[in-house]
Amino acid sequence: MQQRYSYFFILFFYAFQSIWAQQPQKPNAVELYHQIQKLNFLGSILYIAAHPDDENTRLIAYLSNDLKAETGYLSLTRGDGGQNLIGPELREQLGLIRTQELIEARKIDGGEQFFSRANDFGFSKNPEETLQIWDKDQVLSDVIWTIRRFQADVIINRFDHRSPGTTHGHHTSSALLSVEAFDKVNDPSVCPNQLQYCTPWQPKRLFFNTSWWFYGSKEKFEAADKSKLTKLAIGTYYASLGKSNQEIAALSRSRHQSQGFGSTGSRGEEDEYLELLKGEAPKEPSNLFEGIDTTWNRVKKGKPIADLLTAVVKNFDFKNPSASVPDLVSAYGLISDLEDSHWKTVKLQEIKKIIAGCAGLYLEATTDVQEATPGSTLKVKLEVTNRSTIPMKLMGIGAVPVYRSNQKSVDLKNNVPYTETNNLELPGDTAYTSPYWLNQPGTIGMYRVDDQKNIGIPDVLREIKVGFWIKICDVEFDFERNVVYKYNDDVKGEVFQPLDIVPIATSSIAEKVYIFNNDRSKTLTVKVKAGKDNLQGTVKLDLPVDWEVTPASIPFTIEKKDQEVMAVFSVSPSKEASEINIKSIVTMEGKDYSQNKIDINYPHIYKQMILKPAEARGIRLKIKTKNEKIAYIMGVGDEVPKSLSQMGYEVSVFKAEEITAEKLQDFDVVMTGIRAYNVVNALAFKQSILLDFVKNGKTMIVQYNTTDDLVTKDIAPFPFKISRDRVTEENAEVRFLAPKHPALNYPNKITANDFKGWKQEQGLYYPSEWDSHFTSIISANDKGEKPKDGALLIAPYGKGYYVYTGLSFFRELPEGVPGAFRLMANLIAIGK
Ligand SMILES: [Zn+2]
Repeated sequence: MQQRYSYFFILFFYAFQSIWAQQPQKPNAVELYHQIQKLNFLGSILYIAAHPDDENTRLIAYLSNDLKAETGYLSLTRGDGGQNLIGPELREQLGLIRTQELIEARKIDGGEQFFSRANDFGFSKNPEETLQIWDKDQVLSDVIWTIRRFQADVIINRFDHRSPGTTHGHHTSSALLSVEAFDKVNDPSVCPNQLQYCTPWQPKRLFFNTSWWFYGSKEKFEAADKSKLTKLAIGTYYASLGKSNQEIAALSRSRHQSQGFGSTGSRGEEDEYLELLKGEAPKEPSNLFEGIDTTWNRVKKGKPIADLLTAVVKNFDFKNPSASVPDLVSAYGLISDLEDSHWKTVKLQEIKKIIAGCAGLYLEATTDVQEATPGSTLKVKLEVTNRSTIPMKLMGIGAVPVYRSNQKSVDLKNNVPYTETNNLELPGDTAYTSPYWLNQPGTIGMYRVDDQKNIGIPDVLREIKVGFWIKICDVEFDFERNVVYKYNDDVKGEVFQPLDIVPIATSSIAEKVYIFNNDRSKTLTVKVKAGKDNLQGTVKLDLPVDWEVTPASIPFTIEKKDQEVMAVFSVSPSKEASEINIKSIVTMEGKDYSQNKIDINYPHIYKQMILKPAEARGIRLKIKTKNEKIAYIMGVGDEVPKSLSQMGYEVSVFKAEEITAEKLQDFDVVMTGIRAYNVVNALAFKQSILLDFVKNGKTMIVQYNTTDDLVTKDIAPFPFKISRDRVTEENAEVRFLAPKHPALNYPNKITANDFKGWKQEQGLYYPSEWDSHFTSIISANDKGEKPKDGALLIAPYGKGYYVYTGLSFFRELPEGVPGAFRLMANLIAIGK
């Protein structure tokens, strides 16, 4: 156990991305040359912002590749709150995708990725709100932690800490916390709990990476006085790579596929500007490290290392990098003999990797299964190939952390692979694979990570590793590789994926929320998936006593791993309004398994999985409804139709092109999905049919559209102007402007209570001006702002009603928020 601990200790401290990489690295001569040059530079820069995509990849690529500094990007959040352009994943699943995208981006621009425990909870107008929802002390502590362990000489903020309210509150908060951390990070009385793992540290200077964006326009920035700014010419052309710095940055930026940030590189000279916020101004304005010794003289007895490495750089043979190995091994010895220090550990890890690369040493530990269960035996194929004439001897191979289970002394001859296949028995208590930051429930604003050492680690922790002990030029090295799943795909060729440790059975309930608006029972389907062969057991649903489920449990057998079976239950709700959790539980040999495995699989990132409780919510509503038949026209896509059908309405989803007056005849209500008038061009020429539908005595409900690019100016029978007004505080107090209006009274009496328990926000893109035919029903605002009265506008038109609402029903209904259902039921019933 002790060894296991010390292993993780090392992992945490000197966490380089190669440790997590699934694919074996195969650096070429140019990359190795660049890495050796980097060995001779002892300086570090930390870039700080709030989200995946905030980082300036041009600057990161420049700092890492041209300056050759250790360059880190601390993104306070993992970007859970955004939209997903490539699939259905949202919230923490989207955060996991963006985490992987950042890791891939850093592999390209050469930076190192860090995160804090802060959760991207959604849009925030100002830092006051952000820092109330985040645990400010915890996030500050994580910023301090990252600076201390990275020993950042220079910090660069993406955002301006002096302009709250002009950008996302997370952005300004990231800058505010960075400024505060700069003053506190060297004080041992601040976050003293961290000091068992690192030392206090004072960065030399703090900059703000300004740009035209902060000046309002490119013209204004051109004209601005930049004499006080540090200017960096970042348009380097790396001849050895055949790429400009901006081209590398664009490739990195283009990893952000879930955000649709594909980027095209440019060539030629371009500048970045930095404004000094704290610390000493550099005497040479463009030298960020001015006054910091970034040579090996920075460490005691470093001089001979510098001399040796300088000679290695000078004599580097691009046709035979292995010629550098003897000198690199000597340098490794000198670094090993140094007194313990940050740079000693950083550079030892780097040089070890370079020595293996220069010698063409290929190491791999693979298995032919993607998933394994605790207690099972894994067949692991090992390969060690020395592709140089450098003398090498394999001294041992063993599963980490069981060091040296396998003593040997095998000469590794040039280009002769050594292979062996071992059975690796996974201990019964091997932890399931799952993102460590999701293992325990957090709050809206924070992930919970109890182990200080894990904070900031970008990737999912993977335990199953193999150690290789190899003598190179008579010096012994230990290398580690994750055990990874490798297979040949008929189309893609060689594919590496991470190995996941999974429960022997997982299950999932078909829907996230079940709405019961009457006593009738509903069918719940549970899918059970086998993590190994020959599974036999029962599955049941766990519900409170006043809800009923039949049958009580269902037996199943599954012959083969990865196969699934369905179990169908009938659930009857309680008589009274209630909200419950429904759990699915699989029982085998007296043991319960209640986890749902969610796989996330996209070509631009490694396959990911999350284990979550296998559950759904059951909601018994007592809502009166009138009008039954709804025609729904999709906008960018939302789950409102599904929620309405769950509630008991008869919903038909239409493409706008299909709409005719005859087809709408049987319907009581037409509803448009979010942003329909932004994306559905056909609405422009179907609008008259829809307005006639209203005129003839029916109801039309239009959900929010944004201000940009409406497909028609006349989205309503009377004019109004959509603005960017929004109420982001989901529990902001709601005032009734038309308390007698049917929308608030019939068939359900709406009270302040109905606006409690809303999720993420109250609404967005409210109209700011409207024609006098409209009645404004409610008013609300975020703290410190003027009332916003455009959330719900209703106008009689002909014999019917037209309703426009920016309230975020598209979020609230799928989450099963009762008040949102009650209000929606009234809107649907309007005019009855
Ligand atoms: Zn951002």
